Amino acid sequence: MIDFRSDTVTQPCNTMRQLMADAPVGDDVYGDDPTVNALEQYAAERMGKASALYCSSGTQANLLGIMAHCGRGDEYLYGQQAHNYKYEAGGAAVLGSIQPQPLANAADGSIPLELLKGALKPDDFHFAMTRMLSLENTIGGKVLPQSYVLEAATFAKAHQLKFHLDGARIFNAIVKSGIDEREAVAPFDSFTICLSKGLGAPIGSLLLGDEAFIQRAKRLRKMLGGGMRQAGIIAAAGRYALENNVARLADDHNNALLLAELLSQIDELESDPSQVQTNIVYARCRMGKAKQLSAALAEQGILVSAGEPIRFVTHLNVDEQAVRTLVNAIKQFYREA
Ligand SMILES: *Cc1c(COP(=O)(O)O)cnc(C)c1O
Repeated sequence: MIDFRSDTVTQPCNTMRQLMADAPVGDDVYGDDPTVNALEQYAAERMGKASALYCSSGTQANLLGIMAHCGRGDEYLYGQQAHNYKYEAGGAAVLGSIQPQPLANAADGSIPLELLKGALKPDDFHFAMTRMLSLENTIGGKVLPQSYVLEAATFAKAHQLKFHLDGARIFNAIVKSGIDEREAVAPFDSFTICLSKGLGAPIGSLLLGDEAFIQRAKRLRKMLGGGMRQAGIIAAAGRYALENNVARLADDHNNALLLAELLSQIDELESDPSQVQTNIVYARCRMGKAKQLSAALAEQGILVSAGEPIRFVTHLNVDEQAVRTLVNAIKQFYREA
């Protein structure tokens, strides 16, 4: 099987599995798991934040972040394409009673400051209190320009908004832009990291921020059923992922670019290599047929996300050879179609 559906499909490597088996563990709800504690401390120090919290998923980490910043009846601003709005089952509204205020993302993934300004609610009892601004980086595989991040940070500060980053793939952004890790996240009050995407851990995300914020998030995590016991078993894999799998994201980016270039040479597809910045490639089928194409690929053991556009994601279990195998299978499909 070659799986291009997502970078969440990665399999833990042998070293990772061994570290998991050997990890010293304790009850993390009591704060007793040395492996979880070490992971949280390592991540916080490395990224220049006071504190970190190990969470079961990126969805949970984002929800905790939003709920730790906003109260019932508050409002948060974010992009229409944001994962923490569109793909998290409405958790902030349902579980936090926090009003979503989505705004159209520009092509580069940013939310124009004009739109943000227009969406701020005046301090008037007719309105929800605008409390937080949330960005995402990378978003749709694109790296947010750091100049924009800094402008948005200034805007947030000027309007007393908490500033959160959904950084599920922040290391893809960091590796692509070459920016210093701490500098990339310094403007944010809080941010998340997915250990279970391109970094290759089987489970887990981190939420980072100041001490008081993380304490509030910890209570909320318990409330949501996210207090885990001997979680060091999985945190050990997360630590390995952070320590070993960041720089190699560049390979995924190179493979994605190669894939986009090869796809752009197939007449029946529309794919623009100049739009590929990290590990996500989109291609439109000029004559529809995305479903048939994905079914034909699946028969050959190649999995893709058959939306319109089709999405291909590169990760540590697909190499250059896998990319070429995929492209050959697509060409064969169109020859026979
Ligand atoms: C995957 C993802 C999440 C959520 O992570 P899960 O671990 O799947 O819950 C959040 N934000 C972004 C941008 C993601 O890609």
